[in-house]
Amino acid sequence: MIVEEEGFVDNISDVSIQSKILGIIYRHLNDFLFIMKYENDEFRYIFTNEKSLEVLGLSETPRGKTFYDVLPQDKADSLKIIYEEAILHKQSIEFMDDHTLFNGELIHAESIITPIVNSVGECEYIICITRDITERVKKENQLLENKLRFQSLFVHNLDAVLSVDSQGNIFNVNKVGVDLLGYPLEEIENRNILRFIDFVDSQEFLNLFAMALIGKSLELKKIRLKAFAEKEIFAQLKLIPTVLHGEIVGLYIVLRDITEQIHQEEAIRQLAYCDALTGLGNRVALMDNLKMLTKSSNSEEKHFALLYCDLDRFKLMNDSFGHTTGDILLKEVANRLISIMDYNYSVYRQGGDEFIILIEESDKEIISNFAGKIIDLFNSPFKIEYQDFYFSVSIGISIYPTDSTNPYSLIKNADYALYNVKDNEKGSFEFYKNDMNKNVSYTLEIESGMRKAINNNEFFICYQPQFDVNTKKTKSLEALIRWNNPSFGLVPPLDFIPIAEETGYIINIGEWVIFEVCKQLAEWKEKSYNLIPVAINISTRHFKHISFINALKRALDIFEIDPGLIEIEITERAMMNFDESVIILDQLKTLGVNISIDDFGTGYSTLSYLKNLPLDTIKIDRSFIQEISKSEKDEMIIKLISDLARNLGMRVIAEGVEEESQIHFLKRISCDTAQGFLYSRPILAEEVASNFLNKTTT
Ligand code: C2E
Ligand code: CA
Ligand code: CA
Repeated sequence: MIVEEEGFVDNISDVSIQSKILGIIYRHLNDFLFIMKYENDEFRYIFTNEKSLEVLGLSETPRGKTFYDVLPQDKADSLKIIYEEAILHKQSIEFMDDHTLFNGELIHAESIITPIVNSVGECEYIICITRDITERVKKENQLLENKLRFQSLFVHNLDAVLSVDSQGNIFNVNKVGVDLLGYPLEEIENRNILRFIDFVDSQEFLNLFAMALIGKSLELKKIRLKAFAEKEIFAQLKLIPTVLHGEIVGLYIVLRDITEQIHQEEAIRQLAYCDALTGLGNRVALMDNLKMLTKSSNSEEKHFALLYCDLDRFKLMNDSFGHTTGDILLKEVANRLISIMDYNYSVYRQGGDEFIILIEESDKEIISNFAGKIIDLFNSPFKIEYQDFYFSVSIGISIYPTDSTNPYSLIKNADYALYNVKDNEKGSFEFYKNDMNKNVSYTLEIESGMRKAINNNEFFICYQPQFDVNTKKTKSLEALIRWNNPSFGLVPPLDFIPIAEETGYIINIGEWVIFEVCKQLAEWKEKSYNLIPVAINISTRHFKHISFINALKRALDIFEIDPGLIEIEITERAMMNFDESVIILDQLKTLGVNISIDDFGTGYSTLSYLKNLPLDTIKIDRSFIQEISKSEKDEMIIKLISDLARNLGMRVIAEGVEEESQIHFLKRISCDTAQGFLYSRPILAEEVASNFLNKTTT
């Protein structure tokens, strides 16, 4: 019949067998088969199998027809070109193309056309076998897509990604990874990952690695890496097993650089323990150390003494020569205090002109010698620009464990002793004696006076505006209590608040302030003033008292005050018992009031609570603002705190702004709210209304 090339047809001369074979091909061949005759520059179908009829949508074989009779023009054109090519070179040609079937379905096809050359070397017939490879192409595309997607995840990942084998040998690393480690690519690939892990963390890493190899995705919050030139990098680590044919062949190591965050945390932690002015340990450091000493002493019998040192006449000097001079003097005092040789002691600044010294010694004679040396440190004058300043130091001493085993009462007892020194002979020292705490008349007078103050209407509230440094507009107010007593006169809050805190009376005071502020807001509203938020200071003790939230709620209800108008100011100390604080803060948030952290930077600052608590505002303590354009370190701290707060979505208020230059700095670092004498002192409500509040115009 048709196919006369060498091969089976020659051998199968029996025409009936030939037609049987063709019959089988016709019905069962899963590919499309076309046999064409080539004549007068035209290709004509002479045989097509059943399957190809199906896909072409033909009911009978297109025998005798050309491409143009059966296919669209462009398809026919392109096929003809390929067929002619095959005829011309007398060679098979493979090609791939797409077909739209009669039912509209698009298929991908792979074809091979083979010219049949006759005995005189001419091509008369040509066979085309076409295979539907749609499924395969789809799969390949899918694979390719997955690969691309993976590659892009790898290449464009914001984290460093390294692929390692089960031994930890790196065979692939993305650009971020190269940048992170700082080595050239060729010094990372083919090296073991351990080379880049800091020795101190390597054991933990290996444990994790082993676990990941049995199929767990694991994470480490912090790991130290050794980058190029021994640079220390902190990273967050994730290990993800790479599975190939159901088997774990290695891991992806994902590293996120958290170095900057760790450094910030470190800086803030340091800040938490360091007195900004003198560089000595601060109150928090003191308490930490005391707690440690009182704990360890139990077992190790370590005795120590606490020396409470207070500078005599310092306040007077500070007031007459100004704070700058005062600060220089305090720094110099700190320097002298740490200069005594041959004793094992540490010095802390308790606040103001008070210092506390811990010395590991319980022998009274040795302690007396030491105290004498401290007093001698003040024999020579303090010089500032050719001016001599003379002042002395008074010291009260308590001993652990004789006088107390509790850190707080050790301080208090030393303070009682100090009172005595001040009363009797300034510039000397005294040891604590049991009966000393009976002689604290001032405290008692204040305390009993305070208890009558609410009923006698001796308290009143001043408001200090908080303003936008750019527009100079008042954004909010802080309520500050004042006490005017007939016998003491105007008592500064710092004189009675600590006593109120100690005795618990602060809860009455706090509730009174909350009530008065709400009442004031209602009054302003009544008079059609546009209300702005008011911050209320709440002492730690009050903050943690069960009645606090309810009293606040009650006041808001009574005066129908929008809770968003109230901001509760607490200090970092209120955060010290973290779990308890979270509950209260959540209740406050549910109530709808705002929360701010007062005096930030002077206490127990840790990043962790900032991140995890629902805080709205951070108030940077005045002691930092005072140092603007004087201390680069403090400027850095201010910037750090305010960047940090902004990152956490909090508002920042700079406290105690007294100079225009401080405003310039604050603008520069985009800290846009400030409070301080420069703009306004705390003033009475009437004055606030007339100078700082707007009226609704109807
Ligand atoms: P605070 O919360 O840090 O309040 C700010 C203090 O800084 C106020 O002192 C304010 O008058 C003062 N101040 C504001 N701007 C400047 C400035 O530019 N320069 C200077 N040198 N000082 C400025 P105040 O009113 O004597 O209050 C002292 C502290 O007493 C307050 O510090 C707060 O801790 C406490 N306090 C005041 N009122 C209350 C209250 O109602 N409840 C509680 N629990 N504590 C209060
Ligand atoms: Ca405050
Ligand atoms: Ca403050």
